Amino acid sequence: MEKKQFKSESKRILDLMINSIYTNKDIFLRELISNASDALDKLYYRSLTDKELKVDKDKLEINIDFDSKARTITISDNGIGMTREELINNLGTIAKSGTLEFKDGMSEQDKENMIGQFGVGFYSAFMVSDKITVTSKSIDSKDAYVWESLGVDGFTIDESSKKSNGTTVVLHIKEDTEEINYSDYLDEYRIKELVHKYSNYISFPIKMMCEHKEQVDSKDDKPKYKTVKEEETLNSMVPIWKKSKNEVSEEDYNNFYMERFNDYDKPIKMIQTSVEGKISYKGLLFIPSHTPFNYYDKNYEKGLSLYSNGVLIMDKCGDLLPDYFAFVKGVIDSEDLPLNISRETLQESSSLKLIEKNIDTKIIKELETMQSDDREKYISFFNTFGTPIKYGVYDNFGENKDKLKDLVMFYSNNEDKLITLKEYVSNMKENQDKIYYASGSSIEKVKQMPQVDQVKDKGYDILLLTEYVDEFCLTALAEYDNHKFVNIEKDDLDLETKEEKEKTEKANKESTDMLSSMKELIKDVEEVRFTNKLKNNPVCLTSKGEVSIEMQKVFDAMPNGNNMGIKAQMVLEINENHKIASRLKDLYENNKDEFNNYTKILYNEARLIAGLPIDNPTELSNLISDIMSK
Ligand code: ADP
Repeated sequence: MEKKQFKSESKRILDLMINSIYTNKDIFLRELISNASDALDKLYYRSLTDKELKVDKDKLEINIDFDSKARTITISDNGIGMTREELINNLGTIAKSGTLEFKDGMSEQDKENMIGQFGVGFYSAFMVSDKITVTSKSIDSKDAYVWESLGVDGFTIDESSKKSNGTTVVLHIKEDTEEINYSDYLDEYRIKELVHKYSNYISFPIKMMCEHKEQVDSKDDKPKYKTVKEEETLNSMVPIWKKSKNEVSEEDYNNFYMERFNDYDKPIKMIQTSVEGKISYKGLLFIPSHTPFNYYDKNYEKGLSLYSNGVLIMDKCGDLLPDYFAFVKGVIDSEDLPLNISRETLQESSSLKLIEKNIDTKIIKELETMQSDDREKYISFFNTFGTPIKYGVYDNFGENKDKLKDLVMFYSNNEDKLITLKEYVSNMKENQDKIYYASGSSIEKVKQMPQVDQVKDKGYDILLLTEYVDEFCLTALAEYDNHKFVNIEKDDLDLETKEEKEKTEKANKESTDMLSSMKELIKDVEEVRFTNKLKNNPVCLTSKGEVSIEMQKVFDAMPNGNNMGIKAQMVLEINENHKIASRLKDLYENNKDEFNNYTKILYNEARLIAGLPIDNPTELSNLISDIMSK
């Protein structure tokens, strides 16, 4: 028997494993099963090129056994096995393929989290074992060897009498502590659960002798049972996403979704994806039919389950989904991703970025198809998840707006239903150049805005916006198909005829003094002017510049009253054709006090119509009552 030391890097990781208090210990089984599966793959691959080597693929398997009295779990395979040198080199050094990139200054907790996420192969077994015995016979050697280790102090290597090729790993499970009940793993149900969760789709059978009760004949009426042991295959072997669509019923997909992602409802859409090329992968994506219960919680984690050839490497890989599709659930399985890949490496991996890009494009395409082929379904989807998509348009300085612009829909004033921007544009009047919108707290309220009439009279449609992200979304888009978005609340709508414009200009010129003294009185507005754009309403508020009144409301609603000093530049517009116009002129000449009161009332009326708060409601109601009493 020979005693050897671990390499120093391996020692550090081992130490972390053995003393780990937090890490998700469950992954040890996944790691060992995955090693066994690799060994079977290697043997099978060798048999394809080596004519001497006869391998019956159907006999390749992984076996699990446990003994709760002896406190052992045994994982064995009849794969390629390891020579003496391989046992020393492979198990004495931390895996070459995916060394975790521990960065300087990383906390022990961070390191543990990393290990929990990805495992570090074989060594993770030390999280639950105080002794590990590996017996192996390589296909290339007539002798078998046994490797044994109690942890950081090193390992021993000795000869073994094992006759058949393959590897047997025996874990001696730690004694229970006050915090951790290691005996938990020495349980048939628990092992089955772990295999099901992490290794269900390993392509070789994972077998275990399982107990079940069988009824036996009995003399009296009471049924009698005896416990029998029978071999069971614990894994389903072929993942549902690797099966072709005609092999799987819609119900199967729905059940898979509901079980895997804990939803009580079937998804509104299932998207199957299969890509072959620079990076190959298969996947299933699901769009829930309703908002996940914790979707707006800050702890909500987006992401898809990431598998490396049937082995779960990350439960929620957030990097696979853009934020605007954070509601999408699903699995991605790629043979081109190594199993022991660290989170950092994964994040920087170009393969992952490529998959993310493909998934993004795929979801968009599928949604566009749904939008054109099944409008009712799309509307239902959009009512549920339209908000995150509209955020997506304006997020990151509109980086993704071009991709998403055909997915967003808005309520049409003319058609009284949600329409796409493309539909708006295709229905535009011949002389119409701009896309008009108006925003408010409800469709009804927006429809009542005084400014609506002028646009409607021209026969132009108006998009009625009711969610506060809407206007930010359109502002980010700025235009669609070369047609600019224009808020009908803006002061320079420019819909008047030449004559109308001249008439307005003249009226404003004639009353310059009066209008500027009104402005003096109302500090909040930039300007007071006559307008011809109103039909029946006496007044309205419009805005100049980038910030609309609706946007200001959004900023005003920010927490801590911190609206960042953002203010709409408001203009009070007075209907020149309304009787109030001549009344004002008259009062300005003959009764300044009354003129001042009228100005205040009109301004507050305009604020009410715009849905803005009234600063001094008592003063306003007194003023109105005074006038009413005359
Ligand atoms: P990784 O699997 O990422 O390489 P591990 O630490 O899990 O890292 O394993 C180290 C190496 O030990 C493997 O690459 C493989 O060569 C060898 N090995 C582990 N388990 C087995 C097994 N059951 N059969 C054959 N070789 C194995």
